[in-house]
Amino acid sequence: MPADARPTLPPLRDVIAAHGLQASKALGQNFLLDEQLLDRITAIPGSIQDQPAFEVGPGPGGLTRAILRAGGRLVAVERDRRCLPALAELELAFPGQLRVISGDAMEVDARAEAGDGAHIIANLPYNVGTALLVGWLSALWAPLPWWSSLTLMFQMEVAERIVAKPGTDHYGRLAVLAQWRSDARIAMKVHRSAFTPPPKVMSAVVHITPKPAPEGVQLKILERLTAAAFGQRRKMLRQSLKSVPGALDALETIGIDPQRRAETVSVEEFVTLARQLGQATTSA
Ligand code: SAM
Repeated sequence: MPADARPTLPPLRDVIAAHGLQASKALGQNFLLDEQLLDRITAIPGSIQDQPAFEVGPGPGGLTRAILRAGGRLVAVERDRRCLPALAELELAFPGQLRVISGDAMEVDARAEAGDGAHIIANLPYNVGTALLVGWLSALWAPLPWWSSLTLMFQMEVAERIVAKPGTDHYGRLAVLAQWRSDARIAMKVHRSAFTPPPKVMSAVVHITPKPAPEGVQLKILERLTAAAFGQRRKMLRQSLKSVPGALDALETIGIDPQRRAETVSVEEFVTLARQLGQATTSA
C-alpha cells in the first residue's frame, strides 16, 4: 500500500482505552505503542512486502499495524479474546492482508496457517516465548525450515542465552540449538520504558536467519548431547557425557579433550560430536 493510502487509525492508547485492554500479567502483556520503534522492529528482516508473515500475540495491534504497513500478508494468533474487536478493525483497515486466529499459539500449526516462507515477527509473551522459539528451531529443515526469518522480542536474559558464545555464562543448550544451523544476533536492545506497562527487566529483539543444516547430524542426538553436557555444566565432559552411550568414544575419535567442560565446547564441536555419534550408532 503506498504511504499516502495508509488508513488513518486511532492512536494505540485510545484503542486500549476504548476496548478496556488493561494489561494482564498472566498473559505476559507488555504493549509497545511507539509506532516509529515498531516500524524499526518490522524493518529488521528486510522487505516483507507481499510476503507471508506470522505474529504471536498481536494484543492491541501495534506491531501488527507496522507489519501491515510494511506490506506483509499476516496471520496473527491472539489468546486474549478482549483484543479481537480491536484486531477486527485492523482487518477492515487493511483488506485481505490480515487474518486473526483466536487461540493459543502453542496449539496452532503456524506453518499450515501462515504458509511456507513466512517471516515470524513477534513481541513474545515471556511465559511461552522460549517454548515457541524451540519449536520453530526444531522444525524440519529440508534443506531449510518452513519459515524465512525470526524477529522476536525477548527479555534480555533470554536474548543473551540465544546468541551466547562459548566461554560465557549464558552459553548453553539454547545457544547451540539456535546457532548450529542459523545465524542469531541481537538486532536491537529495547529499554523497559518503551513498554506499557514497563516490565522489570530490559528486552532485546533477536534476529535469526536459517542456514542449510550441516550434513549427517540428527537434531535428537545433538539435543541429547547438549542436555547431558549442560545438565552438569561445571563437570568435565568425561563425567557429564557418561550417560550418553558412545559419547566418550566419539569424543576421543574426533579429538576433543574429555577434561573440558561443556561451556568451552563450540557449536561446531558439538555438531562434529553429534555427527560422529550418529555414524557410530548407525554402524554399530
Ligand atoms: N504485540 C503486542 C505489542 O507488541 O504491543 C502485544 C505483545 S505482549 C508482550 C504479548 C501478547 O501475547 C499479548 O497480547 C498476549 O495476550 C498474547 N499471548 C499470551 N500468551 C499467548 C499464547 N499462548 N498464544 C497467543 N497469544 C498469547
